[in-house]
Amino acid sequence: MAANDRCLFCRIANGEIPATKIWEDDDVIAFHDINPQAPSHVLVIPRKHISSLDDLNPADAGTVGTALVRVAQIARDLHLNGDGYRVVVNCGPHGGQSVDHLHFHLLGGRPMSWPPG
Ligand code: AMP
Ligand code: ZN
Repeated sequence: MAANDRCLFCRIANGEIPATKIWEDDDVIAFHDINPQAPSHVLVIPRKHISSLDDLNPADAGTVGTALVRVAQIARDLHLNGDGYRVVVNCGPHGGQSVDHLHFHLLGGRPMSWPPG
């Protein structure tokens, strides 16, 4: 699927809408969440527009794997790996997804509770 010109995260990815990007390459972009839920709250997205986990197909395995490897590297770069961190993907209304472009939330800098809200 090509970039969706009405999608907020596609527009961030192509530079149309500003964000505090901390990583950008041909496949993946990472930027700080505008409404952080932890001292470190980074969103890692594939450049490719995939609406949600529910839209994944086997051909996306490489794209998603690359994004998740980047999540782990950013966690190390931000020194979150020592104490640990949480990675969240919300899917659909019950999952609490509000932006329909697949994204990994990387949350760290405080202990996380379980179960999630
Ligand atoms: P979700 O609710 O899982 O779909 O996550 C969407 C996330 O995007 C939320 O945590 C929002 O705070 C975040 N968000 C929305 N608009 C922006 C923006 N312009 N820049 C950075 N983060 C955003
Ligand atoms: Zn998109």
